[in-house]
Amino acid sequence: MIISNRVKNLHPYVPGEQPKDRVYIKLNANENPYAPSPKVQKAVMDFVNNNPEKLGLYPDPDSLELHAALAEMLNKSGGVLCRAKVCGENVEPSEQDKIPFTVTPDMIYTGNGSDEVLSFVFYAFFDSSKHFVMPEFTYSFYPVYAGFYNIPMDQVPLKEDWSLDTDEMLKRAAKNEGGIIFANPNAPTGLGLTRDQVREMLKKASSDEIFIVDEAYVDFGGESCIPLLAEFKNLVIVRTFSKSLCGAGQRLGYIVANPELVNIVTTVKNSVNHFPIDAVAQVSGTAACRDVPYYVETSRKVADERDKFYNFLQEKGFYVLKSETNFLFAKHPKISGDELYKKIKEQGLLIRHFATKGIEDFVRITIGTAEQMDELRKAIEKAVSC
Ligand code: PMP
Repeated sequence: MIISNRVKNLHPYVPGEQPKDRVYIKLNANENPYAPSPKVQKAVMDFVNNNPEKLGLYPDPDSLELHAALAEMLNKSGGVLCRAKVCGENVEPSEQDKIPFTVTPDMIYTGNGSDEVLSFVFYAFFDSSKHFVMPEFTYSFYPVYAGFYNIPMDQVPLKEDWSLDTDEMLKRAAKNEGGIIFANPNAPTGLGLTRDQVREMLKKASSDEIFIVDEAYVDFGGESCIPLLAEFKNLVIVRTFSKSLCGAGQRLGYIVANPELVNIVTTVKNSVNHFPIDAVAQVSGTAACRDVPYYVETSRKVADERDKFYNFLQEKGFYVLKSETNFLFAKHPKISGDELYKKIKEQGLLIRHFATKGIEDFVRITIGTAEQMDELRKAIEKAVSC
């Protein structure tokens, strides 16, 4: 057989479906319904028109301009866009989000989407001789990487209210000595831990083991752990342009961590692909970071729409978790998750259903524009009435 045993044992990640047969309103992949800022569009057009020769040259392997722009954006916004204060072109973090130090470009690493970043982070910090700890229900790519790199995992069930069982996670981490990862806010539940709760975890966890927090959705209302980087040298924060920065198509993800850890991930990157971020993505990402007010506004719009839709689902009798993200996780008392997903799809809208045991009754609904959510309201009303 020409196929390696490694490949035979892979269980690839299954993303939200992207059907080509019909145009659907896509509320199944936690993408942002808004286009990137017009300044991003202009920067990309200018780059392609004015520097076509640069498309024929290798991009900056270290994405230095992008890292500087990212650091500045985090300092301005405090790392939670929907709460940042905007006055004209000026942006300031809310009191709650102020970072007590300056994030510097050497604290940033960028990659081809946070999926790739996570893969390198797994490779860099988890070991095949020790179990790492993660919640049972969290981003479903983590187990895929565990399989890919042959790293054993220890999955801790969520509590009855669907929040993370932090005590149990710490207990197992102390026993395994292999590190911790979770998404905060978590996916697919949408629930978050406060920064104080994460700080308490970090105080109790061993400082010799890696502690990874995936903040893919934090800009929609969670609390960022970036301020904790001053206290904890084992903390790695993973973030993405795909959600609050309206950039899933640009494939940009990043970490914020102390420079020593950034350097380790860079070593992994340089051993796999020296140039994970193409020249156009570097330009578009940099332009996005320089237009913080636009993304503060779009993040707020999404968060407001989410809270309205939460009320709607409750009125319709759904059990729905209070989300700090751009999606809602909900189940209906009478209609199964699979049936609801199908009834909604028939009407031209896609939401996400996971067949995974334990969460099979739920659907995950990405928040779209007000118009898209109106369409979904109609579709849900019809689905639950017949
Ligand atoms: N982390 C979490 C928790 C996610 O839900 C996702 C998106 N599905 C990602 C990371 C990956 O995002 P991307 O690769 O688009 O940056």
